[in-house]
Amino acid sequence: MIPITVVDVRDSEPLVVEVLRSGSLAQGPMVARFEAGFAALTGTAHAVAVNSGTSALVAALQALDLRPGDEVITSPFTFVATVNAILEAGATVRFADVTREDFALDPDAAAAAIGPRTRVLMPVHLYGQTADLGKLAPLAEERGLHLIEDAAQAVGASFQGRRAGSFGLGCFSLYATKNVTTGEGGVITTDDAELAQKLRLLRNQGMRVSYEYEIPGHNYRMSELHAAVGIPQLAKLDQLLAARRHNAARLSAGLAGTPGLTVPAELPGRIHAWHHYTALVGPNAMLSRDELAAELADRGIATATYYPRLVFDHDRFRGHPRVPAVTPADFPVAAALTDQALSLPVHPALTESDVDTIIAEVREALGA
Ligand SMILES: *Cc1c(COP(=O)(O)O)cnc(C)c1O
Repeated sequence: MIPITVVDVRDSEPLVVEVLRSGSLAQGPMVARFEAGFAALTGTAHAVAVNSGTSALVAALQALDLRPGDEVITSPFTFVATVNAILEAGATVRFADVTREDFALDPDAAAAAIGPRTRVLMPVHLYGQTADLGKLAPLAEERGLHLIEDAAQAVGASFQGRRAGSFGLGCFSLYATKNVTTGEGGVITTDDAELAQKLRLLRNQGMRVSYEYEIPGHNYRMSELHAAVGIPQLAKLDQLLAARRHNAARLSAGLAGTPGLTVPAELPGRIHAWHHYTALVGPNAMLSRDELAAELADRGIATATYYPRLVFDHDRFRGHPRVPAVTPADFPVAAALTDQALSLPVHPALTESDVDTIIAEVREALGA
């Protein structure tokens, strides 16, 4: 079976052992080193490491002092953490449709969704390509809104030469299968020194100095062990991204012209981090998306469906006082993607012959 993802952190062993031998397990030099490396990567003045991507989103929202009734506009085509974070921070969710080109928040739809209580635009840089920050960042600016980038999947992506996470408060995930991993972890990036300070307080029970509680906070801290796992990956990120890029280019060249299949595009001015390689199956393909996934599984190729339903389309959110009463038909582009999106393996551990196999099997399954 060609797996959908391979986690390789063998390079981290010396640093992890160093932490174990030091006995210094919490908020020490490894976390500081990881933060410095991450800030350099995103080109931001500050990076605040936390214990998950979800915590990063929650802390970013909390740092903005939202009040009950304040709204956050985001994509309905995302992982549930995006919505859980908004609800955890006490805010109200509002959705706007995505585009079929980048699978991320449509700037026109986002503009139309802005109401008197809207405080935050939260685009999700899905699959490793940024949303249209050339329109969304100015929109936030003009309308006096904060911009929070759910860049959980977009470590290494950029838009017109600027890295994801440098346009607003950048929230990254370091979960096991993300482009850079610490096992579990997250980071918030910003150029704003005051917000960075506040995020550090929120992360550590509101304390700058022990037992002086400046604001109500939480424990969002990243451990030294986790930071040690991540550091070597920052050093070789360019190489890992180049491998993803190479695999994506080969897949797109090989799959071009397959009947009923639309390969993902890297849009002009954007650098795709290829966290996922997500093609669209249909509407006029020989097989449905789910049939193709089953067929490829039989042929030894793992695939994944991100995401089979829109994020609000689950019983637990129906009737929630801070989730709008909407239906998939309100978001026709995103709704179509839930039926058509299929992610193929693109990870750096693929061999050239794995990529050839994926191309050949997909083409054959779809009658090319
Ligand atoms: C992974 C992910 C998150 C959450 O990150 P965790 O580290 O798992 O908490 C948030 N948003 C998106 C879009 C994600 O893919």
